[in-house]
Amino acid sequence: MKIIRTVLGDIPNREMGITDAHDHIIRSGGPEVWRDSSFLMDDTDAAKREFRKFLEAGGKTMICMDPIGCGRNVVKMLEAAEEFRDMGNIVMTTGFQKGSNYCPNTSFLATVDADRIAEMMILEITEGMDLHSYNGPVVERTKAKAGVIKAGTSYRVITRLEQKALKVAAITQKETGCAISMHTDFGTMAVEILDILKEYGAGLEKVVLCHMQRNPDRYYYERILDAGATICFDEPNKPQYRPDIEIAENIKWLIERGYQKQIVLGMDGGRREALGAYMGETGLANGLEYLLTRFVPLLRKIGISDEAIDCVLVKNPSEVFAINV
Ligand SMILES: [Zn+2]
Repeated sequence: MKIIRTVLGDIPNREMGITDAHDHIIRSGGPEVWRDSSFLMDDTDAAKREFRKFLEAGGKTMICMDPIGCGRNVVKMLEAAEEFRDMGNIVMTTGFQKGSNYCPNTSFLATVDADRIAEMMILEITEGMDLHSYNGPVVERTKAKAGVIKAGTSYRVITRLEQKALKVAAITQKETGCAISMHTDFGTMAVEILDILKEYGAGLEKVVLCHMQRNPDRYYYERILDAGATICFDEPNKPQYRPDIEIAENIKWLIERGYQKQIVLGMDGGRREALGAYMGETGLANGLEYLLTRFVPLLRKIGISDEAIDCVLVKNPSEVFAINV
């Protein structure tokens, strides 16, 4: 049986529905926030309002990609998920962001053996996530289990620390059957990521490469997809990187070449101004519903079929994020 591991429990994968495959609604701190306060998203009520807009636009499931050491907040996410118990699903993440978020000398990622770290990640998936996100010596498991493994790499470089996180991710995937979702920096190093994961025994059919729209090289996409991985196009409404139409045209091109089953979509809101509900009185901004209210209609307008859109929004996430139990 195939299930999706949400924070409120397992659901049959066919109940996953329209899925945002990479997003953030609560981030309570961490190195990204220290560097740039617009990364702080620590308001449970705002997160609920944001998630509600996504549901009202037709969404059902959101994969929330905040890993260990980057402001993950299990209690607040659980509170948000509970409010929408019969309406929508939230999936949370174990694992790591890219290496610049961890001390290369003294973080537990640096000092503890990869096999032991993998054991810790496996427990987050099979028993429950640590209330403190392994930030300290006290571990208190919550009832909420992680449903996705994260790892990350740097721009044009995979540091030693990141190679170790990839090894941890591969071991954790082998033990749990859980998908690995990768932060790529500007879409670089995807080929090398897949090589390393494969070397450590990961199944590439359960690997999602995020942020690939920032490196809009169609032949590079083909190479990655031919290796069996899934690409997540996850930043509509961020024209400082790529305009929506360019992302949409690349998705169309890939669908026409038969890669329809290896594409998923997300928003990767990431910062307060990407989540309209967080702006409050400060100003007007689009939120995560933009994926469904603005980007999907654009896909239709350029001639992508409803069947293909259903595939990337519903069918593909329900396969790649499924765990066999
Ligand atoms: Zn993200």
